[in-house]
Amino acid sequence: MENEDSQEINYSSIPQPTETATHCPYCALQCGMLLTGLRNSVAVLGNGSFPVNKGALCIKGWTSAATLNHPERLLAPLARHGEGQLETVTWDEAMDRIARAFTETKARFGADAVGVFGGGSLTNEKAYLLGKFARVALRTANVDYNGRYCMSSAAAAANKAFGIDRGLPFPLEDISHAEAILLVGSNLAETMPPIMQYLQAQRANGGHLIVVDPRRSLTAQAASVHMGLTPGSDAALANGLLHILVRDRLIDEGYIRERTVGFERVRGVAATYWPERVERLTGISESQLLSAARMLGTAKTAMVFTARGPEQQSQGVNNTLAYINIALALGLVGKPYCGYGCITGQGNGQGGREHGQKADQLPGYRRIDDPSARQHIAQVWGISPEEIPGSGKSAYEMLDSCGRDGGVRALLVMGSNVVVSSPNVLHVEERLKTLDFLVVADFFPSETALLADVVLPTAQWAEEEGTMTNLEGRVILRRRAFDPPPKVRTDIQVLCDLAARLGKGQHFEFDSAREVFEELRRASAGGIADYSGITYEKIEAHNGVFWPCPSEEHTGSPRLFTDVFPTPSGRAQFHPIRHEPPAEEIDAEYPLFLTTGRVLAQYQSGVQTRRVAELVNLSKEAVAEIHPTTARHNSISDGDQVTLSTRRGAAVFTARFTPGIRQDTIFVPFHWGGVQAVNRLTNPALDPTSRMPEFKVCAVRIERHQED
Ligand code: SF4
Repeated sequence: MENEDSQEINYSSIPQPTETATHCPYCALQCGMLLTGLRNSVAVLGNGSFPVNKGALCIKGWTSAATLNHPERLLAPLARHGEGQLETVTWDEAMDRIARAFTETKARFGADAVGVFGGGSLTNEKAYLLGKFARVALRTANVDYNGRYCMSSAAAAANKAFGIDRGLPFPLEDISHAEAILLVGSNLAETMPPIMQYLQAQRANGGHLIVVDPRRSLTAQAASVHMGLTPGSDAALANGLLHILVRDRLIDEGYIRERTVGFERVRGVAATYWPERVERLTGISESQLLSAARMLGTAKTAMVFTARGPEQQSQGVNNTLAYINIALALGLVGKPYCGYGCITGQGNGQGGREHGQKADQLPGYRRIDDPSARQHIAQVWGISPEEIPGSGKSAYEMLDSCGRDGGVRALLVMGSNVVVSSPNVLHVEERLKTLDFLVVADFFPSETALLADVVLPTAQWAEEEGTMTNLEGRVILRRRAFDPPPKVRTDIQVLCDLAARLGKGQHFEFDSAREVFEELRRASAGGIADYSGITYEKIEAHNGVFWPCPSEEHTGSPRLFTDVFPTPSGRAQFHPIRHEPPAEEIDAEYPLFLTTGRVLAQYQSGVQTRRVAELVNLSKEAVAEIHPTTARHNSISDGDQVTLSTRRGAAVFTARFTPGIRQDTIFVPFHWGGVQAVNRLTNPALDPTSRMPEFKVCAVRIERHQED
């Protein structure tokens, strides 16, 4: 082990690339990009030969290299002694301290008292290794990740309905050929601008776009129909659309008969959602419902998409299933240029939920309670099935358990900023402070890292190799353009070193991401997300490979469900869904709905994007979008500082008048921490199936901010 002190880095001594084709570090579109030039002045170009973005990038992609040499970059391990400040230490000191803390915690409180929290931006190799590290090196059941906050409701719904969860079961290029598209709870024009080229082509071909969103977002402004529903009323809206489709005989009875089960109960439920009732529940008029239903029902090709809007609710799985019911009733799923898809958000939100960093899952999208899955993975890992722990706590529940009897006492966080991205963050921060030991691996001093006992500096996307799986299910290759700074390590090196110090090094003898991927291939073989036929060379030769890909001769699976669904019956499953109100309803004390989301120039918890000058110039702070009428009722002017309060806490924002938002709703983006953290306000009520928190709706009060 090296034993070096911090020193300034001479980047000119690091080999420079001429041109490296790689991918954007941010969202699930995973746009292809070319990095050229010197490390200190990297030029980023869109990669026109990558078929997903076709050369287009958004401003986050264009500016992504700014983080590589950023002055706030963590360049050496840090450790806190007692209540003191974080100070530079050697890797040996840091890793020994972590190994000692984990070993002592296990000895005093049992293996499950050590928790592991991962992220949806980790490569497939890292997500796989993190899950293995938790189960094999620590023997803890408590491993989960921030994708629980992002994709878990859509994943659970897709598994229930189709027997498989792949965000889009078709390539993006199919979108241009759909005559009608229903897009629910997504503002693609801001969150993934390059994807708009497909929607623009669809409109140019004469297609219709229907957007469901409480805000008249940039995306909604481009739509044929915008339905500004009451937050928390998705299932009622979906049932209302289905009611009209059934009543007006616009459903595909042949498809329902031949390819699905369970429609009659859904038909019965939909019959009770007549337009007047739906208008009362959702605020959407009968004429708008009719017009949207007719566009969908008369189109020869149509698609239904959901995103975080309906999914990040305590009814998230049911909301998603209600929209899937529409896609199935119209006979869309598995037909050319048709279908249902969920728009994945985080960079590796798809792959991150397939390979074992989820509390209830083993690699290959296997269930941890399935004896044959445990047998297969145990054999790949060289242990006995009994040694693999059972299912652990979900993300928020793990954080909530910190420091409590029977809960987590020592925690490793890798690739996540939980005190910004979790719901009810004031409470989460309090829980983290009660831990005996917290270690955070990151490349910037995030709000979570600043609470840690030990901070490990890790490599960024352009400094490491690995695979990501984009929102289409296309496995792509992130190439290494630069070596990491001298005292920065990759997450894979960190996990292998720690495993060795915990006495499990024989299971973690990996010198590269490629070697981890070779084991991941074997672990995923025969699972739902089967990567066994995917190689780095095949990805390079074909601009990515769509899973499942069960053999080296197999060319991948761009389109799913064309003949059969991977369910026991071979058919898709309808689910009767009734509208249930959100966990928290508005009242006299908290009379407005609060909803949260993203903006163009920031990404997730903002650890990277809040450090990029061009992005800060565009979005330097969280603003509260409010309808001018609502603002006047509350004596608020455009640009005022306002305090938003919920039953969990308060936060301060600048008010921005937004005529396109519902009068009963306030929108705040979630990219900031501290007093600007909107997640101080959000409700941790969990969906009973997916354990997804209700980020998208809670009851709030707004007042002009009073200085103390
Ligand atoms: Fe593409 Fe997303 Fe990166 Fe923007 S943030 S360039 S849309 S991958």
